[in-house]
Amino acid sequence: MLDSVRVRLTVWYTLALAMVLILLAALTYVLYERNSSQRTDSNLMELADAFATTFRAELKDQDGPDPAKEAARQALLEHRFRDTVFVVLDSNGNVVLSTPDLPAAGSSRERVTPAIFASESFRELAANPNSSRRAMRTLRAGRDVFRGYARGVEVVDENYTLVVLQSLHPQHEMLEDIRDTFLWAIPVALLLASVGGYFLARKSLEPVAAMATQARGMGAANLHDRLAVLNPRDELGQLALTFNQLLERLEESFERQKRFMADASHELRTPVAILHGETEVTLSRADRSPEEYRDTLGILKDESQRLARIVEDLFTLTRADAGQYPLQLQSVYLDELAADVMRRGRTLAMAKKITLSAAIQPELPIQADEALLRRMLLNLLDNAIKYTPEGGQISLQCRRQRDDYTLSVRDTGTGIPVELQARIFERFFRADKARSRAEGDSGGAGLGLSIARWIAEAHHGRLELSKSDATGTTFTAWLPVGDVHK
Ligand code: ADP
Repeated sequence: MLDSVRVRLTVWYTLALAMVLILLAALTYVLYERNSSQRTDSNLMELADAFATTFRAELKDQDGPDPAKEAARQALLEHRFRDTVFVVLDSNGNVVLSTPDLPAAGSSRERVTPAIFASESFRELAANPNSSRRAMRTLRAGRDVFRGYARGVEVVDENYTLVVLQSLHPQHEMLEDIRDTFLWAIPVALLLASVGGYFLARKSLEPVAAMATQARGMGAANLHDRLAVLNPRDELGQLALTFNQLLERLEESFERQKRFMADASHELRTPVAILHGETEVTLSRADRSPEEYRDTLGILKDESQRLARIVEDLFTLTRADAGQYPLQLQSVYLDELAADVMRRGRTLAMAKKITLSAAIQPELPIQADEALLRRMLLNLLDNAIKYTPEGGQISLQCRRQRDDYTLSVRDTGTGIPVELQARIFERFFRADKARSRAEGDSGGAGLGLSIARWIAEAHHGRLELSKSDATGTTFTAWLPVGDVHK
């Protein structure tokens, strides 16, 4: 059950609320108790002062046989307050008069059980009159609890002691009421809050549940579906938007993969069909001349070479996509590498009567994957030779320009139509499919430039088509001079 965010939220919320309420209740209780006992004490002192003043005044006016008793009676009658009991004692500690001695002594609360007077604490209190708060005492006898205060009253040559008692019963009752109220009010408040909290949590999390249900139904077949965004400004809306963006990227990459697979199988189908067709035709008759067999084998060799190259290119690209093509970095001299590629290209160029020239700056050290850089340059040179008619010219330039090395391959070929220039780095893209195939070269699957660009980027550089028009085409690669980081 605690696996549900709703329930967890409600539990935490209820626990936090319970703590706050309990703390608040305890604080209220303690403050009230302290406050009321302070009030009782001040009250007792004030009453005692007022009583003493009356008693003193009455005593002066008395001339009967027992003036103290009469003065005490008058004072008692005058100060008959609820919950308050006065006791006047003479200097020997004998009770002169007390509230319970009055006839029909008020409410039941004023009545003090004799046990209180007999108690040890009462005797102690009466024996130690003191006008400070320290003389306050709490007296208990049975179920009765009184707050008591004793002070001396000096009249002429006699020292009387006045004890004032106030029942703490009402105060205790009030505290009990408060306690009882808290005891039922807190659980009820918590119950209401937790039920409310649960529904609130459920309501707020409903969109999440809806999103989960929707997301559960998503698969490769309906990647174009999107989650409903109720309010794009709130947190859940943001979550849905982020999820939708993720789906968008997934869909794009899925589409790219699908296209790649379709293009790849299409590209592979052609050479396989040629291999198959050629073999079948050759084998259909038994009496073929050795020349005919040689011709067929020549075709089979070309096509299998072409097949091998496409498979190799595809393998490179898929590994690059998966980030699994580790660069074998080493110290390479770019000038030597360029010169080497030029030597290899020369044979191909000569066959087409193309003039190859190079302007290579010496001493161009770089940290790079030599095999990959060679492949990039070869792809560019291959293309230049492939798309330059007989008698054309190709030049290679390799030099340092500030923080980059630049490698440019310029040809005097037919150029790439402007409207197709933006697409030539796409996989399997060929500006003129018919011509590439018709020339029967061993490449031409439309992967050469994609691989070349990936190689430049893997070395933190870039490869761009610098120029292409009727006079020819120039491709330039920029490679940073600094150490190449993995
Ligand atoms: P391909 O295997 O077809 O050469 P690339 O990826 O190397 O594939 O090149 C993509 C397309 O770009 C080519 O089919 C061609 O139409 C065009 N292209 C590349 N290099 C040149 C060039 N030097 N001159 C003219 N067109 C070029």
